[in-house]
Amino acid sequence: MNPPRADAAAAALDHLDWPFFEPRHRALAAELDAWAAHHVRDVHGHDVDADCRALVRALGAAGWLTHAVGGTAYGGAGDAIDTRAICILRETLARHNGLADFAFAMQGLGSGAISLAGTEAQKQAWLPRVARGETISAFALSEPDAGSDVASMQCAARRDGDAYVLDGEKTWISNGGIADLYVVFARTGEAPGARGISAFIVQAGTPGFEIAERIDVIAPHPLARLRFRGCRVAASQRIGEAGEGFKVAMRTLDVFRTSVAAAALGFARRALEEAIARATSRRMFQGTLADFQLTQAKLAQMATTIDGAALLTYRAAWQRDCGRTVTREAAMAKMAATEGAQQVIDAAVQLWGGLGVKSGVTVERLYREIRALRIYEGATEVQQLIIARELLKGARA
Ligand SMILES: Cc1cc2nc3c(=O)[nH]c(=O)nc-3n(C[C@H](O)[C@H](O)[C@H](O)COP(=O)(O)OP(=O)(O)OC[C@H]3O[C@@H](n4cnc5c(N)ncnc54)[C@H](O)[C@@H]3O)c2cc1C
Repeated sequence: MNPPRADAAAAALDHLDWPFFEPRHRALAAELDAWAAHHVRDVHGHDVDADCRALVRALGAAGWLTHAVGGTAYGGAGDAIDTRAICILRETLARHNGLADFAFAMQGLGSGAISLAGTEAQKQAWLPRVARGETISAFALSEPDAGSDVASMQCAARRDGDAYVLDGEKTWISNGGIADLYVVFARTGEAPGARGISAFIVQAGTPGFEIAERIDVIAPHPLARLRFRGCRVAASQRIGEAGEGFKVAMRTLDVFRTSVAAAALGFARRALEEAIARATSRRMFQGTLADFQLTQAKLAQMATTIDGAALLTYRAAWQRDCGRTVTREAAMAKMAATEGAQQVIDAAVQLWGGLGVKSGVTVERLYREIRALRIYEGATEVQQLIIARELLKGARA
């Protein structure tokens, strides 16, 4: 399968003239697009672990992962995480290859708690390696019985002298099985619910920590269920204060939830490019598919859905970079972009006809890639509840 066409690549940069961006953002997108066209294969191979490791190394060697961590002293591109840069990187990589986007995103999500709340020693130890692509990272929050209701997690960390002892399970952990560094959230019990959780750095190979199961999904990524049995972690590996782990997780998700919307945008833009290419070349009824108004209506709807989602996504990213709260804006962006991308990609599959469901065709791959984005980092229903809660704040009698 070919990379995205060059004329489509230029069109995909148009929105970077919007006032949310600075000139460096436009330059970043153009440079990454050119790099991805040469270095990121469009198809996934048969060994997803090896592909993912290779992508992390390539992204690190080219310097793109410096945007995934915060602090120039720790190998980061800037003093703080630049949400707009992360969104541009994810949107661009997703247009080229879902696994490349995943590899980038997980370096940021997995190390995000350290960038945002780590000690000096934790930052020095891990962030430069993550930014160079030498350490693969993972974010372990969800459990078999605590997904949407994540504050009900059961995985426990009991204090024992200068260490904590972890017991329990985590599941759906991206990069599980290939990561070197896991940021694990566990119940330390300072208070009930969300106020009794802490975050820990756990290295692969720590005694008492094992990969209980590798999980296959419709768009293959490294994914696993983790098991902790009497796993001792030095107290110095706790990130932030005891009992503050839930806040650390939510601060991390504030950045990366908006970036999920950006990845969805990248998938949707690629689907529109593919739809236009097919509609203008597929001959039928003495013309092309694009000659019919029914097709034009579909394309118009797809483009409008994409621009609406892009406006919401980059509003949220810009607002966070301005230091403002983005709870409502990030939820709107994630909901609109992921749900919209699903509709755009479905329309592209329809325009491709039988070929649209043939294994290996780009729109077929996109159809599988987009689905999980409506579920992870807060399902659409959870985003709806967040938006409504913000709307109703103070409005009830
Ligand atoms: C591919 C993939 C990668 C992932 N990677 C990670 C990772 O790296 N780290 C990590 O910690 N987790 C990860 N997850 C887990 C993910 O965050 C959870 O799947 C998600 O939070 C939903 O939890 P659940 O699967 O337990 O679904 P449940 O909590 O059982 O929810 C099921 C469905 O119920 C609906 N729902 C939820 N709440 C409400 C409500 N209040 N009202 C009405 N309906 C509701 C939603 O439609 C939801 O999809 C990943 C998941 C997937 C699929």
